Amino acid sequence: MDKIKIKDLEVYANHGLFKEEKFLGQKFLISVEADLSFRDCALEKDLDKSIDYGKLSHEIYELFKGDEDLIETLAYKLTKYIFDNYEIVKKLDIEIKKPWAPINLPLDTASVKCIKKRRNYYIGIGTNMGDREEYINRAIDAMKSSGLKILEEAPIIETKAWGKTDQADFLNTVVKVNSFEDPIDLLHILQKIEIDLDRVRHEKWGPRTIDLDILLIDREIIFEDELIVPHPFLHEREFVLNSLNELIPNYFHPIIGRKISDLYEDIKK
Ligand code: ATP
Ligand code: CA
Ligand code: CA
Repeated sequence: MDKIKIKDLEVYANHGLFKEEKFLGQKFLISVEADLSFRDCALEKDLDKSIDYGKLSHEIYELFKGDEDLIETLAYKLTKYIFDNYEIVKKLDIEIKKPWAPINLPLDTASVKCIKKRRNYYIGIGTNMGDREEYINRAIDAMKSSGLKILEEAPIIETKAWGKTDQADFLNTVVKVNSFEDPIDLLHILQKIEIDLDRVRHEKWGPRTIDLDILLIDREIIFEDELIVPHPFLHEREFVLNSLNELIPNYFHPIIGRKISDLYEDIKK
């Protein structure tokens, strides 16, 4: 892994919560550390295969001239800007310092840091109420408008309900999404989309307009109150394995240690 760094780029601007900050303005120091591979750039002397730090510094400068914001907002905006515009970047560490933070006490700097990395998420989509195809399309559009990049979509399949079988048939699919959002943040983005698309939770595994589950995240294993990855029922659900088998048949389940294609073949028997 290689790195490109910009350290303490100085911008004078009027961001901040206090009226003095908005009125008088102050100095901000912006640092960016981007992980990427610049081997191709190094060998071909082609800056498009790396980050032109001069160009990026000017872009940061322009971004900071905008609205009055909190430094947290600026750090997030800058993170999003770089991931959206520099596909080559795998991981980012951004720091914004205020050396003149007006707190009426001596201090070196007050600062925020935003550290994010790109991940591939496999998201299971299910629906068995209303115009099911329309709900799937709206969910995918909503993911795009939330800044997630849809890389691949498995074909939509019609399946019998799982777990609670006395309900209408489902349409299911899986999409591969690329995002810099952390797993819990991504879960919250998906939950907001479910609510916006009329999801109401009455009974466990009951009918739903839309269900968005995080099935897999690269090779990661997560066990938290709110989020379990790989999804705990992934290997028991034929419809999930069917769709995953379309996208990543050779992926090894990181806990079970077996290929998606093998898990799918077994469950079909
Ligand atoms: P299942 O999770 O068995 O498919 P469901 O999708 O009907 O059932 P929900 O009511 O949508 O269940 O979600 C219940 C809770 O599951 C959520 O509040 C969420 O915090 C939690 N959860 C844990 N792991 C995941 C995951 N990988 N993806 C989505 N939600 C998850
Ligand atoms: Ca589910
Ligand atoms: Ca769910």
